[in-house]
Amino acid sequence: MKIPLMNLSDCYEEIYDEIMVKIKSIIDKTQFIGGEEVDKFEQEFADYCNVKHAVGCANGTDALILALKALDIGSGDIVLTVPNTFIATAEAITLVGAKVDFIDIEEDNYTMNPNKLREYLVNQKSPENIKAIIPVHLYGQMCDMEEIMKIAKEYNLKVIEDSAQAHGAKLNGKGPGEYGDIATFSFYPGKNLGAFGDAGAIVTNNLELAKRIKMLSNHGRVDKYKHKIEGYNSRLDSIQAAVLRIKLKHLDKWTKQRIEKAEYYNSLLNDKEVILPKVRSLGKHVYHLYAVRVKDRDKLRDKLSSLGIATGIHYPIPLHLQPAYKYLGYKEGKFPISEQVSKEIISLPLWPEISHKQIEEVCEHI
Ligand SMILES: *Cc1c(COP(=O)(O)O)cnc(C)c1O
Repeated sequence: MKIPLMNLSDCYEEIYDEIMVKIKSIIDKTQFIGGEEVDKFEQEFADYCNVKHAVGCANGTDALILALKALDIGSGDIVLTVPNTFIATAEAITLVGAKVDFIDIEEDNYTMNPNKLREYLVNQKSPENIKAIIPVHLYGQMCDMEEIMKIAKEYNLKVIEDSAQAHGAKLNGKGPGEYGDIATFSFYPGKNLGAFGDAGAIVTNNLELAKRIKMLSNHGRVDKYKHKIEGYNSRLDSIQAAVLRIKLKHLDKWTKQRIEKAEYYNSLLNDKEVILPKVRSLGKHVYHLYAVRVKDRDKLRDKLSSLGIATGIHYPIPLHLQPAYKYLGYKEGKFPISEQVSKEIISLPLWPEISHKQIEEVCEHI
């Protein structure tokens, strides 16, 4: 039985007709950029996140760039993130002209280690150059935001939560955007809330930041012909907004299904030599990915692949060892936990509608 890493079409049946009718009406109205669908999605997504403002944009990478720009971060500033994330997190930092540096992760949860963050800041000669941090809520689980926010306040750091993998995740009842200055989201098709193409958003409780991001995302416009600042073309399309509005209504149900399937995996893999995902106490993990650790990762991956079972590695090369960041001069051994995890981590097939039978089949071969 062939099993993909994720299946994006299983969810279509229940939303297909509604989406087709909506897309047709947008085409008939030729309302492709901005307008009602975008405005309504922004309101509904802000409500979903329990924050005051959401601004749609073109993708999750732009969301990070817009967030950094809105916070006035650029040349001469240092922004900290983690080595085990998608390159977009670090790219956004350098693309606004700032310098990226890394903080190693917690061995249990794979997210930014607050102790390492504090250690880094204590040892800096000029900590005032460090303007912001971008903790990444990886695989669907929130970082230790309680500790991270304490340190950020102490050192006057802005906090952007990269929440591309964490729609609906919680810690102590609070989600992305309720801790940091800004949280950014991607609606890349494979994310927990996925569009039919590229899309993204930022959320914040700060009205000034929301306004600035809205302006930056649309050429710094205040009206059609007046540009207060230089900005970007990074808008959310109406068709994508309409798809996201329809899918958002189902997101909590799909998240529940993800959690139930992840727990089924846990129950089957419990007695094997597999390190299972750990969930923070008082945390809600939304399992964008079901990532486990094994000793002979590449061997397992090859074996599953030969049986038609797809797996993923998120991520095989930590950013400090990527050719793109060679200029930072970091060698193997610099961020040992990220490096070790990158050698052992493997993402098993997971999507809301995966069957117990499919999960049993995957586990049988592990
Ligand atoms: C997907 C992702 C992004 C980038 O989002 P795009 O919409 O693909 O630009 C950024 N950060 C993380 C952690 C991601 O998983």
